[in-house]
Amino acid sequence: MADNAFASLASLTALMDKCVHCGFCLPACPSYLLTGKETDSPRGRIYAMRAGLDGRTDMTPTVVEHFDTCLGCMACETACPSGVKYAPLIEQTRAAVETHHRRTGGERWLRRLLFNTLPYPSRMSLLAWPLLLLGPLRRSPALLRLIPERFRPLLTLAPDVTIASLSARTPERTPATGERRMRVGLVTGCVQRTFFGSVNEATARVLAAEGCEVIAPPTQGCCGALGLHAGEADRARTFARSMIETFERAQVDVVAINAAGCGSAMKEYGHLLRDDPAWAARADAFSRKVRDVSELLAQLGPARAPRHRIEARVAYHDACHLGHAQGIRQQPRTVLSEIPGLTLVPVADADICCGSAGIFNLTQPAMASELGRRKASVLFDATPDLVVTSNPGCILQIQSAAREAGHPYRVLHIVELLDASITGRAIL
Ligand code: SF4
Ligand code: SF4
Repeated sequence: MADNAFASLASLTALMDKCVHCGFCLPACPSYLLTGKETDSPRGRIYAMRAGLDGRTDMTPTVVEHFDTCLGCMACETACPSGVKYAPLIEQTRAAVETHHRRTGGERWLRRLLFNTLPYPSRMSLLAWPLLLLGPLRRSPALLRLIPERFRPLLTLAPDVTIASLSARTPERTPATGERRMRVGLVTGCVQRTFFGSVNEATARVLAAEGCEVIAPPTQGCCGALGLHAGEADRARTFARSMIETFERAQVDVVAINAAGCGSAMKEYGHLLRDDPAWAARADAFSRKVRDVSELLAQLGPARAPRHRIEARVAYHDACHLGHAQGIRQQPRTVLSEIPGLTLVPVADADICCGSAGIFNLTQPAMASELGRRKASVLFDATPDLVVTSNPGCILQIQSAAREAGHPYRVLHIVELLDASITGRAIL
């Protein structure tokens, strides 16, 4: 067993064996929808994991490719009637892949670049300046032709950067409006902090308007989601410990997050650090405090701050790491329904991933673009004025696909819409 590249999955045998091969998950799986191959489906991947553990298959480049095409969207968990927990299976498999499989030079280079920049806001700020200077020119076909294909999504997906967006800073403490209901720690994120500082500012304003004192510790780092979802568990554990320590010091009642992928990872800290006696209990206590911002607002009950009218058709896009991974679907809709004048419009194939999926749209650009095109198109068919969602990756992915297709709707974070409704700022 020691030479078996899949040996670390042995503790998950019971999870794998829960799969009864019924295939209900197949139509829900975006990679299967695109390729039509069993090997790119949840059932096929679980079969490959078991075959690897039993020594019936090796970790060949082809086998790895089928794990790499998994978006980690967890639509299969939602669809599975047998309650198969796919998340720990794919996370452990990805860790095994990174330990036992040697990637090509280009793949290694890209992954190194991503892991050494995305979790570090100060490094990302440096990368933001070329984006600012190039402006929309960075998407010109002439410039893109000069860039190796593998690296083009870094330019096409990157957000529009302005001096204002780069200099947005969330206050370390935002006092509650009126009587204080709770003390909330705000996770400011990495991509969110660098490129969507205005979303963090809006989050602090909305929570404060609803009676929360908001604490955004300036020393906080990355939550580790990027590493956790890409097979870099040790890196994720290091970030997790630091995050727990920071928010313990802040002495908050709950920890709020406005990025679905980060929230889903932080709710898993208890599991991630379960074998570390010094941290297991602290990680579990932290995870139990984590709330997505819409989850927290719904938990606070009916809106306290008056909402201004917004006459708009709004399509809500369920981020996979909010809907599938955290089961949070109703709360965002509930808080949106408190905005007078707003019409929530239904969207077809709402359970299918937009193709963002952490770094998937950077590592698997062809599949991600196709999923982005499909998502932008079904959103367009719903004829919305605005598309709102709860994850910066989804915003960038849908914006990019909508721009390419010439769709006119704007894509916003849900708190930007709530903030506009509370402050009366024009949003259309
Ligand atoms: S739906 Fe669940 S039990 Fe059925 S094949 Fe998929 S993972 Fe296995
Ligand atoms: S996580 Fe998403 S892409 Fe991966 S197997 Fe499940 S449904 Fe398919």
